[in-house]
Amino acid sequence: METKEGKININEMDFKFAEEVISYPGGEHLRKCFACGTCTAGCPISEIDEAFSPRRIIRQILFGMREEVLSSPAIWFCLICYRCYAHCPQNVNFPDLMRVLQYLAIKQNYVTSDILDRIKEIDKRLQILRHDLIKYDVDKQKQLHPVKK
Ligand code: SF4
Ligand code: SF4
Repeated sequence: METKEGKININEMDFKFAEEVISYPGGEHLRKCFACGTCTAGCPISEIDEAFSPRRIIRQILFGMREEVLSSPAIWFCLICYRCYAHCPQNVNFPDLMRVLQYLAIKQNYVTSDILDRIKEIDKRLQILRHDLIKYDVDKQKQLHPVKK
């Protein structure tokens, strides 16, 4: 498989993987990707973690790297913000592709307890953050537009 130097072991490539991903809604345009990197350049997660690269994940799927992709915590980092999809010149729906990968990772038992704990922790923090942001917005609106009694 792909090493840090970018080498690939052809004996470990799973050629059915890409077809499997393509068979789910969201995976349809996978083979149209021409690796321009626009998705990675505009991704807010790639900005904070350079190890997260939509372009690379797509290449890995196309190269049949099932285990690397489905066991990677990176497939759980996507915010599903659709920014990459909006700018993709080939209409590759990467956020929906992420959902497919997450589904396959669970179905095929690639999710370890360590990854599950990390996902739960991120979800918990996101809920707290969302609650505080909504509260801040509601309080601000109340100050700007007090209800007349
Ligand atoms: S922007 Fe689209 S075509 Fe370009 S690398 Fe990303 S998915 Fe592929
Ligand atoms: S949908 Fe996911 S991969 Fe695409 S830009 Fe947003 S965080 Fe990045």
